[in-house]
Formats: sequence, C-alpha cells, structure tokens
Amino acid sequence: MIQVGVNGYGTIGKRVADAVAAQPDMELVGVAKTRPNHEAETAVANGYDLYAAIPERRELFAEAGIEVAGPVEDLVAGSDIVVDACPSGIGAENKPLYEEHDTPALYQGGEDAGLVDASFNARSNFAEVEGADHVRVVSCNTTGLSRLLAPLQEEYDVEKARVTLVRRGGDPAQTGRGPINDTLPDPVTLPSHHGPDVNTIFPELSIDTLGMKVPATLMHTHSVNVQLEDVPTADEVRELLADESRLFLIPPEHDIDGAGKLKEFAMDRDRPRGDIWENAVWEKSISIEDDDLYLFQAIHQESDVVPENVDAVRAVLGETDAETSIQRTNDAIGLGF
Ligand code: NAD
Repeated sequence: MIQVGVNGYGTIGKRVADAVAAQPDMELVGVAKTRPNHEAETAVANGYDLYAAIPERRELFAEAGIEVAGPVEDLVAGSDIVVDACPSGIGAENKPLYEEHDTPALYQGGEDAGLVDASFNARSNFAEVEGADHVRVVSCNTTGLSRLLAPLQEEYDVEKARVTLVRRGGDPAQTGRGPINDTLPDPVTLPSHHGPDVNTIFPELSIDTLGMKVPATLMHTHSVNVQLEDVPTADEVRELLADESRLFLIPPEHDIDGAGKLKEFAMDRDRPRGDIWENAVWEKSISIEDDDLYLFQAIHQESDVVPENVDAVRAVLGETDAETSIQRTNDAIGLGF
C-alpha cells in the first residue's frame, strides 16, 4: 500500500485526502493543518490522523479539544509521498521539509512551474514524471484544457488553440473575493497565465488565452476555439471526446444551461460536496466552422484536480501505467456520470 500524506487540508487538500482514502492501493497516513477550524474537526471525525503544520500552534488544537497525532515532520517522514495542498507560495516554503526527509512531493497549480522537476496531467504526460522528486499538478483551468487538447492534438493536430477563460471570482467559501458587481478582463494584457501553463504540459502547442473574472463562485467556463490541421466533422469530434473518461458531454436533453444546473445535477447524483471531477462540455456547442472547432466547457475548480493528484502519486512512484491508474482512480471515487 502506498502511504500518502496530505499537507494543507483546505479546499483541495480535503478532497484529495478523501480520494486517496478511497483508493485500493493507497493509505492516507494523515493530514496536516495550521488551525483547529471546522475542517480540522471534520478530518478527525473522518478518522484521519491530524498533524500540526506549525509546532507553536499545537496548543490551539488542544484548547479546541482536537487531538493531534504529531508535528508535520512525522507525517512527512511516515509517508512515501506527500501531497502539498497549501495556499499558493507556501508549497515553495515547504519544499526543504520534503527534501530533508527525502520524501517526493506533489504541489498544486498555485506554485511556480520553476519550483518543480515537472508539471503533470494524467491524460497528457503521465509517464514523464516517474522518479521525479517535485511535481506540480497543474491548476484547475490548465487541467481542464489539457484533458481536452490531448485527444484533439493526437487525432487531428492542433494548429492553434484560442481560449477565453471566464473565471469564477472566488470559491464559495472565499467570502472576501470578488468582483461582486463587475466583469473584469483579468489580466487585461495578453496572454493570461493559462496559455504558458498549458505549455508546461504541451511545450510545442500554439495557444493564446484570455482571462476574465466574473461575480460567480460555482465554476469556470471556457470558450474554446481550436484550429485543426486535419479537419474532422462535429460528429467525429463528439465521438472522440465521448470516449475520454474525464470529459462529460452534457446531453442536450439534460437541459443544463450553466453551472447552477450542473452543480444541482452533481448533488442529485450524490457527488461528495457536489463535486464535478470531469470537464463538462456542452455537446450541443461542439461545432466546426471551416477548419476551426468551437465549444464551451465548464470546469469545477474545486475538484477537477483531485483525480489528477491521485494519479500523480502512482506516476511519480512508477506504480502503474496511465490507463490503469486513471481507471483505478475513476472506479474508486465513482468518476463518470
Ligand atoms: P485553501 O486556502 O482552501 O486551503 C489551503 C489550506 O492549507 C488551508 O486549510 C490552510 O489553513 C492550510 N495551510 C496554510 N498554511 C499552511 C502550512 N504552512 N502548512 C500546512 N497547511 C497550511 O486553498 P486551496 O484552494 O485548497 O488551494 C491550495 C492550492 O491548490 C493552491 O496552490 C491553489 O492555487 C491550488 N488550486 C486551487 C483551486 C481552487 O479553486 N480552490 C483549484 C486548483 C488548484
């Protein structure tokens, strides 16, 4: 059994911890937190060993009546690999801790690509990270784009991708984020960081991205235009994408017009936290005009990277091939509608 530690138990970390605990070939050693808040209490209620990320704050957990298994160093020492799901920039501060214990680490998309040996997306470059010590699971948006572009590139050769990312202002629990009454070009200059980030996975791919931020919390929406060298029909693209386990083609008869109904659908299907691990591609939007493919997809920022972290564990440790790992992860968490 692969022993996995999760350092940082917030939006991403708690989901990754649950997904790791569900895998037949992994054991969750525990999770580390800085504060004894509701998430710390839930971790303990779930039966997870809780480690104190900051030794001086250990007292606070005792005062809150939350049992701590030890300092974060013990978690790192006892794990075959650590998933660092701390806020952007804190992963970089934690790197020496992982190096000290010779424990490979997975970081999240908020960290700089320069921090790590390789960036990762299971569908696109699984085999490239075997044996690496520091790997970054790319952000929610880059994950969503990589999953889509990988089959298009393999099947039709991408001449140029152009994507406008309409991004949620903050996650539902991020009460301090905005905008609350505006639609912002963000950044106003080109490119947004997403295109260069996709190039950490596909170095040769030609892609331009523009970003916007809007008063929404549920999901991101991508308006995608991909110019293809070998031009297929829209039906052929639909068939190709339908075969991808982490792409969910929204059937027209579902009458899902946006992120609100998508989340409702996920909750009706008893998805934990209403999570949507798949890219949600509107089937009806898939169109070919001349040699350009157009479509819309929605990305659930809080959860699409979760199965990718699970696969990155196996990829780094050289446990299986991509296909086996992706299938195992999907089966264990119930991915696929
Ligand atoms: P978050 O703030 O929800 O969670 C981070 C957790 O880490 C919090 O519980 C915080 O208390 C804890 N923490 C802070 N300092 C710590 C330390 N020194 N040691 C251990 N724990 C510490 O953040 P998040 O949204 O889960 O983001 C985590 C990473 O994932 C970031 O790199 C982010 O860019 C990336 N990411 C976030 C999203 C998203 O939409 N939320 C999507 C994809 C990737």
